Amino acid sequence: MTTQEMKKAFEEAYGRKAEKIYFAPGRVNLIGEHVDYQGGSVFPCALSFGAWLLIAPNAERVLRFKSLNMPQSYEIPIDAIAPQPDRAWCNYSLGCMDIIARRHPEAKLQNGYDLLYYGNVPAGAGLSSSAAMEVVTARAFTEEMGVVIADDKKYRTELALIGQECEHVYAGVMCGIMDQFASAQGKKDHAIYLNCDTLEFEHVPVKLDGIKVVITNTHSPHHLDSGAYNDRVSQCKLAVEQISKVKPIKFLAELTEEDWREVESAITDPIAHKRARHVVGEVARTAAAVEALKRGEIAYFGELMTASHVSLRDDFEVTGPELDALAEAAWQVEGVLGSRMTGGGFGGCTVSLVRDEAIETFKSFVGAEYEKKTGLKADFYVAEIGDGVMRLE
Ligand code: ADP
Ligand code: MG
Repeated sequence: MTTQEMKKAFEEAYGRKAEKIYFAPGRVNLIGEHVDYQGGSVFPCALSFGAWLLIAPNAERVLRFKSLNMPQSYEIPIDAIAPQPDRAWCNYSLGCMDIIARRHPEAKLQNGYDLLYYGNVPAGAGLSSSAAMEVVTARAFTEEMGVVIADDKKYRTELALIGQECEHVYAGVMCGIMDQFASAQGKKDHAIYLNCDTLEFEHVPVKLDGIKVVITNTHSPHHLDSGAYNDRVSQCKLAVEQISKVKPIKFLAELTEEDWREVESAITDPIAHKRARHVVGEVARTAAAVEALKRGEIAYFGELMTASHVSLRDDFEVTGPELDALAEAAWQVEGVLGSRMTGGGFGGCTVSLVRDEAIETFKSFVGAEYEKKTGLKADFYVAEIGDGVMRLE
């Protein structure tokens, strides 16, 4: 859908013209999975698909929410902003306005607004349609509510923090900062090497001559539920406690692989041991992958992606049959440099590096193998690495 068509849809919905248009992207994490809550760094990039928001002020002191992706619309008085029941989609939008006001006492909604959203991130695929929606809303309404942060980098980090807090308070999902950060700080043809604990980050150029980033959607109904997620979080904490008896640490990410060999026997719980081994290995792999990319060693980068999947499958146990079927089929295709699950796990997507001339074979072979093993049809997207949130008009 073009922005012209979105503008037309706005006029049809509200009987007048949109005044401003904003865009924020979804994201894919290239490597660095399940390390963020243990002080490790992640390596996501923003995608060229995401969420658009069109707005116009109104004189009625109400917020009207419509989405081209959702049948429900909502109307909420500006003096009655609070979480809405039944997982209403407007929570991702309303929540940002509320969090902006809580974080910036000077910020205020002066009048009502008509809002129209459109998104083209595949829904629930772990490419963060929710973060795109939050960050686009935070961008628009920091401006409307009079928040001024002159430094662009700091402003974008603040948009990510607003989005994350909205997700915690209005959606009840205790997510880390990666998704909103990538959506806010994304840069065309760059990935973001981000420490989720300190929020220090670096844009690293992704120069892939003749190679594409291909995202494959399992379309599996499974996802990493909060129970399984929280289990992983506490198993890692247990490992930290047990290691701390011989070497005091706050996070597993502080350990080099050499340190690990010295302290691993302090972990008596076999599950916690495996989980910690993944985290320590993944932190090292992610650092090595960033260095490889900087040196232009894409083949090595791909090998590290594959090793990441194996560790998430065998030690962290968050892949499941669908993601394994996709990755294992991809590894057999000549011209695939690496392939791994991305996101929380169990369902969602894989991310692969594929040579241009192998893309068609990749799609047909992986698609067929996947359907044979799971009975499900996969979807393929050749990703373009895009910019972070922006005002378009
Ligand atoms: P994801 O992995 O895509 O972020 P989530 O479950 O976290 O999946 O977020 C999906 C939810 O975000 C949807 O159920 C809906 O409530 C909201 N959402 C995302 N995009 C849109 C949109 N374009 N219009 C309305 N709601 C949206
Ligand atoms: Mg989400």
